[in-house]
Amino acid sequence: YQDKIKIDSQVKSARIEKDKSDRATVENAIDPKTFNQLQKFIRNGTLTKIDGCLSTGKEANIYYGINELTGKEFAIKVYKTSVLVFKDRERYISGEFRFKGFKNNNKINARKLIKVWSEKEFRNLKRLKLNGFNVPEPYELKSNILMMEFLSRNPVDEEESSAAAADAEKASSAVNDEAAAAESVEDAIAPLTIKSSENERGWPAPRLKDYEFKSDQQIFDIYQQILVNMRLMYQKCRLVHADLSEYNLIMYKDGEIYIIDVSQSVEPNHPMALDFLRMDIKNINDYFQKKKKIDVFLEKEIFKFVI
Ligand code: ATP
Ligand code: MN
Repeated sequence: YQDKIKIDSQVKSARIEKDKSDRATVENAIDPKTFNQLQKFIRNGTLTKIDGCLSTGKEANIYYGINELTGKEFAIKVYKTSVLVFKDRERYISGEFRFKGFKNNNKINARKLIKVWSEKEFRNLKRLKLNGFNVPEPYELKSNILMMEFLSRNPVDEEESSAAAADAEKASSAVNDEAAAAESVEDAIAPLTIKSSENERGWPAPRLKDYEFKSDQQIFDIYQQILVNMRLMYQKCRLVHADLSEYNLIMYKDGEIYIIDVSQSVEPNHPMALDFLRMDIKNINDYFQKKKKIDVFLEKEIFKFVI
């Protein structure tokens, strides 16, 4: 499974056949409780299909989901439940009073922790969304599964999709037959499939790292957009991203920067908050200076600007 997933994230044009054995391994890799919860999303009509793995990270996998009746798409973030994953999360956690009580004899209670961790990302996304930031809208959190807005490479026109939603209203009575729905649940989950064409639905918008800028002017505009976002995030939301880089910024609709992956974000009163902020600034500056070859501001000037 792990090897296949590696192929998955590297060779986007390949297509892995999903036979029975594949599905079995997937079920094992996604632990049974999680798989059960994914099935529930299909049974209760939230989704009709989970189709493809968008990313496999250290802490989480992201899957693509869609409700074909309404056209609504989802990014499904599944936090991994293994203990090891959380080892290097400690530095984020140890300074936060909210995480007291997760250690017993200096050992972390992983189950409790993952719950709090995913709640934290959910809450941070909500806070950012409420304050008008460009983040994927958080929809729902069920134990270690976060359902959020899918930032598509080919966003569907709003009018088009609301018309589709109206049609779906009528059509939805068709899936109310619970037995029929249950039977198709298993077929509806194919997390290993890979999109074969970029025009297919389900392709995510590019990360900043993968985005092809149109001009030097655009590079500088985006650079500034990010710095302003850091400042507003700090001033309005009282949050330091703490893992900001070209990997956790998404270029949506060819010009809007979206912030993702805010599970580790901390408030300014966290003892390491300002260190994390300096790191964020350095990551962004390094990327724009070394990779994009533009003149950047001094890190300490940006720091002052943000706080
Ligand atoms: P890592 O461990 O690699 O930092 P992660 O496991 O913490 O990643 P995220 O950074 O939240 O997970 O997401 C991983 C990738 O999945 C992103 O880089 C992005 O390409 C894709 N992705 C995440 N959320 C969305 C979304 N809402 N819409 C589209 N794509 C998304
Ligand atoms: Mn990430």
